[in-house]
Amino acid sequence: MLDVVPVSAFRDNYIWTLRNKTHAAVVDPGEAGPVLDYLGREKLALAAILATHHHPDHVGGIAALLERHEVPVYGPRNEPIATLTRAVSEGDTVTIPELGVSFSVLDIPGHTRAHVAYYGAGSLFCGDTLFACGCGRLFEGTAEQMFASLGKLAALPDDTKVYCGHEYTLANIGFAKAVEPENAALTRREKRDQGLRKSGKPTLPSTLGEEKATNPFLRCGEPAVIESANKYLGARIADPVRVFAAIRDWKNRF
Ligand SMILES: [Zn+2]
Repeated sequence: MLDVVPVSAFRDNYIWTLRNKTHAAVVDPGEAGPVLDYLGREKLALAAILATHHHPDHVGGIAALLERHEVPVYGPRNEPIATLTRAVSEGDTVTIPELGVSFSVLDIPGHTRAHVAYYGAGSLFCGDTLFACGCGRLFEGTAEQMFASLGKLAALPDDTKVYCGHEYTLANIGFAKAVEPENAALTRREKRDQGLRKSGKPTLPSTLGEEKATNPFLRCGEPAVIESANKYLGARIADPVRVFAAIRDWKNRF
């Protein structure tokens, strides 16, 4: 069983920290301070750093971590991350012997050009591509790419735990309700996640099964989502990629 702890950074980032009794690996350390504090407090040695994409709020802390811990830094080939020591892309495996765990690398472009996800031990670390009840903005990729990337993630088992990069869940649910006001699973999710936030807890991880039931960006073939996209566009479309592009655009203005 993989023990995964959220270390908070900035306003709403999570630096997911994989650990056992002696070692830890971190995913997307946007800043070093909170990680060094955690490692010191828990008396853990850093074993590896994993990056999903090049945005500074995900890689900005790597250089300072490397000053204290000489560890491999995994991250996407074809993205400008100066601190990488092991460039990876789809088909590669990342093994962290100190934690007894391995991850498959998936290419999931869309938010950025070469964004990757790490999948292993029933867990998915997907950065800013799939969010709880939402998805990342299209900064460097197309709607087609992002739609295909989300489809690739959605094909993983339903009980996969989803660890994404930000605590955006309640705002995302607000938008999802505008797209699918009649979705009962969404209403139940909102109640539960509001409760979690009120008691200061993360809404993550979620599961892929839950995302498929509530996340409008994974539901572009559902009649209710298609109808809302048509209303937003004032046009008749049904192609899932165009539905996806429409609701992504709508969310940007929401
Ligand atoms: Zn990002």
